[in-house]
Amino acid sequence: MKKVEDYVRTIPDFPKKGIMFRDITSVLQDADGLHLAIDEMQKLCGDPDEYDVVVGLESRGFLFGMPIAYNQHKPFVLVRKKGKLPCETIEQTYDLEYGQATIEIHKDAIKPGQRVVIVDDLIATGGTVAAAIKLIERLGGKVDRCVFLMELAGLNGRKNLEGYDVESVIRYA
Ligand code: 5GP
Repeated sequence: MKKVEDYVRTIPDFPKKGIMFRDITSVLQDADGLHLAIDEMQKLCGDPDEYDVVVGLESRGFLFGMPIAYNQHKPFVLVRKKGKLPCETIEQTYDLEYGQATIEIHKDAIKPGQRVVIVDDLIATGGTVAAAIKLIERLGGKVDRCVFLMELAGLNGRKNLEGYDVESVIRYA
């Protein structure tokens, strides 16, 4: 029986030299891989009575978060790169290896007190998800858990997320 990590394809030197890119298209392209990935991530989201909303991070977080929200009959909220959301937003800027990035959420997407699970494909430094947590908390939401298909443990993204429950299906050293 294959495990979900068997479906991940690793591409050396993409998008630039020295990076081992973990490609999820090979997971999604296989019906068994797709089922395994969603099922395993959904399990890590925990008891659906304990969260109200699934938030997905652009763009691969949409691919994994949306089916989980659909299966669990939860609302799905998009965190997008700046300039893509049409209604009133709040934004958060965070540091990248080179430069900065800004993400946004619709102001009305999270109601005060709602319990949120954040979903993305991969945690590296944790900068993206830490910025998403700030957005959600600024709207009065409570981040219950962050769930990833993959974790690059060597980059220690968890240190950016102390006090939060971080779960991943696959851990790379
Ligand atoms: P972080 O903010 O944790 O450093 O980076 C995480 C973000 O970068 C995620 O949104 C993820 O999609 C993207 N990312 C970084 N490296 C990889 C990789 O090797 N594979 C995939 N699929 N995404 C990556």
